[in-house]
Amino acid sequence: MSSLIVYQNYVHGQYIANGTGETFEVINPATGQVSYLVETATEAVQQAAIVSSKAGFATWSKMTAMERSRILLKAVALLREHNDELAAGEVLDTGKPLQEAIEVDIVTGADSIEFFAGLAPSIEGNQQTVGDDFYYTRREPLGICAGIGAWNYPLQIACWKAAPALACGNVMIFKPSEETPRGAMRLAEIFTEAGIPDGVFNVVQGDGRVGAWLTGNEDIAKVSFTGEVGTGKKVMAAAASSLKEVTMELGGKSPLIIFNDADVENAVSAAMLGNFYTQGEVCTNGTRVFVQKELYPQFIKRLVERTEQNIICGDPMNPETNFGALISKDHQQKVLEYIEIGKKEGATLLTGGKALQPESAPNGFFVAPTIFTDCTDQMTLSKEEIFGPVMSVLTFTDEEEVVERANDTRLGLAAAVFTQDITRAHRVIHQIQAGICWINAYGASPAEMPVGGYKMSGIGRENGSETLKAYTQIKAVYVGMQNLESPF
Ligand code: NAD
Repeated sequence: MSSLIVYQNYVHGQYIANGTGETFEVINPATGQVSYLVETATEAVQQAAIVSSKAGFATWSKMTAMERSRILLKAVALLREHNDELAAGEVLDTGKPLQEAIEVDIVTGADSIEFFAGLAPSIEGNQQTVGDDFYYTRREPLGICAGIGAWNYPLQIACWKAAPALACGNVMIFKPSEETPRGAMRLAEIFTEAGIPDGVFNVVQGDGRVGAWLTGNEDIAKVSFTGEVGTGKKVMAAAASSLKEVTMELGGKSPLIIFNDADVENAVSAAMLGNFYTQGEVCTNGTRVFVQKELYPQFIKRLVERTEQNIICGDPMNPETNFGALISKDHQQKVLEYIEIGKKEGATLLTGGKALQPESAPNGFFVAPTIFTDCTDQMTLSKEEIFGPVMSVLTFTDEEEVVERANDTRLGLAAAVFTQDITRAHRVIHQIQAGICWINAYGASPAEMPVGGYKMSGIGRENGSETLKAYTQIKAVYVGMQNLESPF
């Protein structure tokens, strides 16, 4: 145990000791072994982070947007240069396949920073004449923003939150999930190397208690949160005590609607991507797969065939592996419990449904890709976010019916429609209550596209130019050009 690396909190451009030596363990989900230890952000660290952030804001907000943009683009280049090493770190923390992390996690994080760095210098106010007087507006940064991340895309989430915040001249204190603290630390190091001033991006480590401190702190102007709906409610309630702005990226139970005329192979690809990519730990997963009755036999045959033949589960560091381990033993148990509930409630298990012990990683927290059919809308499987590789297949007869059933949920993160009928595709998508929608596609989320949830899946958006508004506030300045009239 004593030979394990101990990471500290990253404050003001360096790692600082927390003063008490209190640490927590980070487990590699593919081996079940402790990878390293991390010092918890004690009160001393928290205070240091606030002092540092104030100093960082004073420097960063005074720089021109062009200057900030140039530095952020250096960070983008460094992220790309270190892609493979950073991806490997994400695999060790999350258990996801290296082949995914190398292609997606760092790249999409870097893309978001590049996108907002490009937009920053174009942020402008306006000017309006009022008689002989006029007023003008300035888009000013908010100040210190907090970012709180989930464990499924740790580095990407840190980038997606830091990118718009920093581009607009804010500073950020980021708390990664206690299960995956490494990516945010590496991002902080890269920001420092790129020349981002000390205090602009601080990383504090710990569990929900450190998160709760961030959400309640009066010096923090905004909190951007990614996590479960239940935690999101707590974060929003705490943020209300100091009237912070909030962005909430929460869970989903998204519908994937497949009509009779859909291309079967593409529809099967979508169902597999939307349920088994990152071993099912993706917030936008299309876990309710609605298939129109005539296509169902053909669809289900190919779905089971491809799932049983093409999924390679094992050591996620092996580049051949395309299906990794779940984040923790507890989460593995939770997913297996949902599978038992599915069986008890009468759904038919077609494949999977059990823990796996691949030879290359016998102690990892794996659950087999699982497909249930004969599901009904009332079953727990169709209602609750499982956040694992468990797909529920449901059938439907007509368009009106499927739209109503797809919307029959308190969540509204994502949705997809597969059909060759162009008018039906748009007509259906326009009626679906979800913020992130795809037609004949699943999962693509380029930096240019705003993403976020309807209903209880979230508030606000990440990515897309829309997000600039969420990290700036408008100041209106009225200018009098003549003597001031007054009754006094
Ligand atoms: P979680 O809600 O358990 O934890 C998220 C973060 O909140 C962690 O950093 C945790 O330490 C912190 N936290 C816990 N209690 C807190 C409190 N009281 N105050 C402040 N912070 C607190 O979520 P998770 O298990 O890490 O992630 C999985 C969930 O995240 C799923 O529901 C998934 O759908 C969601 N998610 C959503 C998106 C999106 O963009 N919509 C993306 C990824 C994950």
